[in-house]
Amino acid sequence: MHIQQNISLKPFNTFGIDVPAEYFTELEDIESLPELTAEQQPKHILGGGSNILLTQPLAGLVVHNKLKGISVAKEDDTNVWLKVQSGEVWHDVVLFAISNGWGGIENLALIPGTVGAAPMQNIGAYGVEAKNVIETVTCWHWEEKTFLTLNSSECSFGYRDSIFKHGLKDKAIITSVVFKLQKQPEYNTSYGAIQQELEHMGITELSVKAIANAVMNIRRSKLPDPAVIGNAGSFFKNPTISVASYSELQPSFPHIPSYPVNEATVKIPAGWLIEQCGWKGYRAGDTGVHAKQALVLVNYAHASGSDIWKLSGEIVDSVKKKFGIELEREVQVW
Ligand SMILES: Cc1cc2nc3c(=O)[nH]c(=O)nc-3n(C[C@H](O)[C@H](O)[C@H](O)COP(=O)(O)OP(=O)(O)OC[C@H]3O[C@@H](n4cnc5c(N)ncnc54)[C@H](O)[C@@H]3O)c2cc1C
Repeated sequence: MHIQQNISLKPFNTFGIDVPAEYFTELEDIESLPELTAEQQPKHILGGGSNILLTQPLAGLVVHNKLKGISVAKEDDTNVWLKVQSGEVWHDVVLFAISNGWGGIENLALIPGTVGAAPMQNIGAYGVEAKNVIETVTCWHWEEKTFLTLNSSECSFGYRDSIFKHGLKDKAIITSVVFKLQKQPEYNTSYGAIQQELEHMGITELSVKAIANAVMNIRRSKLPDPAVIGNAGSFFKNPTISVASYSELQPSFPHIPSYPVNEATVKIPAGWLIEQCGWKGYRAGDTGVHAKQALVLVNYAHASGSDIWKLSGEIVDSVKKKFGIELEREVQVW
């Protein structure tokens, strides 16, 4: 295990924020975990850095996850259980599933980052969430110095939420995930513009590959590429409000969109709320709100994490003032 000192994290986060890590190491095998446990505190687990905002120099040890490996744990006539090490790139796993014709994660194509962050955040897109396919999550508990394997219900998955953001926050590093995929996929094309894009592509026979390609086309047309403009995807969660609060807003905002969550609550697209407050395309120095998607905050070149944090606070305040709705940040702030 090689521990480096004073390493710039600029190449390791998709916002492209330049702050140093006091200590930095790459984790390449799980056998090093007991030794790593004794090293510097606190420990910050870094995957692809696509869901973090770095606001200050990081004290302690950044552990860059490079655990690799994809294998079939078991299979039967209808399903295959894929065991994936947590440092694998998420999209590579999607491509692997597609190349075998296995269904379940094709709608999650092109989400940046690593497999280890997928259960932490319960990543989701186009009507599918990671929790739909996660069978178990294995992690190393830093204090108990042992591996734990949690089944899906023990992970307490919610909307962009899991036990790894609560009870196990900063206490464990996810080392592998088992995904249950379908050999005869049930396609989900009802969300967003997938159906429209499939028609545009001239697809007459559905396949996991066609759906993933449609999702990738839509994503590429809507979202900024972090390699070109620094960003972390959706900066805020879509807020959930009660049906009663929604009815109160409707007379003043007749076009306010909503999606039912259950009988008592609805979800409001945060991007719409932010756009209504006039932020879409806003720019101050190198910090801004993306011109095509108001949910995405961007770093045009040399913005600091605190510049972006400050802008996010101004957005939260304006949405609260106009709609009485409190936006919650989706990105992890370090
Ligand atoms: C252009 C763009 C589009 C995006 N679109 C989507 C989308 O459609 N849906 C969606 O859900 N997200 C989306 N995201 C957000 C992001 O891709 C996901 O949250 C992703 O899962 C983050 O993975 P990561 O490896 O980069 O995590 P990081 O940013 O490295 O880490 C995020 C958090 O997870 C923790 N973590 C990471 N790995 C581990 C581990 N092995 N064990 C324990 N904790 C860990 C970190 O400590 C940190 O708190 C998008 C981001 C970008 C830049």
